[in-house]
Amino acid sequence: MPPPERASEHPTDFVGGHRQITSGCAALVVAAGSGERLGAGRPKAFVALAGRPLLAWSLEAIAAAAVPRAVVAVPPGHGAAAEEALAGAAGSFALGLAVVEGGATRSQSVRNALAAAGDMEAVVVHDAARPLATPELFTRTLAALADHDAAIAAARVTDTIKEAGPDCVVTRTHDRSRLWAIQTPQAFRAESLRRALDVPAAVLAAATDDAWLVERAGGSVRVVEAPASNIKVTTLHDLRTAESALG
Ligand code: C5P
Repeated sequence: MPPPERASEHPTDFVGGHRQITSGCAALVVAAGSGERLGAGRPKAFVALAGRPLLAWSLEAIAAAAVPRAVVAVPPGHGAAAEEALAGAAGSFALGLAVVEGGATRSQSVRNALAAAGDMEAVVVHDAARPLATPELFTRTLAALADHDAAIAAARVTDTIKEAGPDCVVTRTHDRSRLWAIQTPQAFRAESLRRALDVPAAVLAAATDDAWLVERAGGSVRVVEAPASNIKVTTLHDLRTAESALG
């Protein structure tokens, strides 16, 4: 599937103070997972959340953060469905949108979206599965790029984390005060992410977040504390939780 530009490329008003960062920035929204654990019979990103496709909530937050463009990676064969799902929602926010085919793994989907984003100073990668990410969280991760190659949303770990062997016997207890659970959005200097993603498919397949790829390439990554509402929708229970959070 070629990466078609949607017909409407709306200019976006910039929010004072964030102009320099967002003007050369694109969001890469990965929505190419099958969403099997949700059991909806269609890709998770198109499942309705409070009357709109799950994906539309993230795109609205991205537009409200004054990021002017988003490239959305969707499952192979679902380009037309994505265009249709977004056509209904796109009237409510101003965002230039392009749709590309996702890859076999999450990081391959990011790589496809990055390739379609063109020449950008910064990109912010976001999972469509996190529909409650706030505009403020997008702007805070992008702002933190001033001194780092990547800035990633994260939550402090509140449970005690232990390691156990195959026999379930505990081998180690971690210092909880230093642990963070990693989420999206994840903002990157585009060139750092491009270099980090230029690795064999097996390395990409092992990456559960893109920041790890930047870390292993020697880049500096900082965490940005996210609000507790930034949940990931995996199961039907998560979908209901997100729905009640939206009121
Ligand atoms: O599978 P997981 O929950 O980690 O997926 C996180 C995000 O990555 C989801 O938004 C999903 O749509 C996306 N993804 C993707 N391409 C894949 C696998 C997952 O865009 N091949």
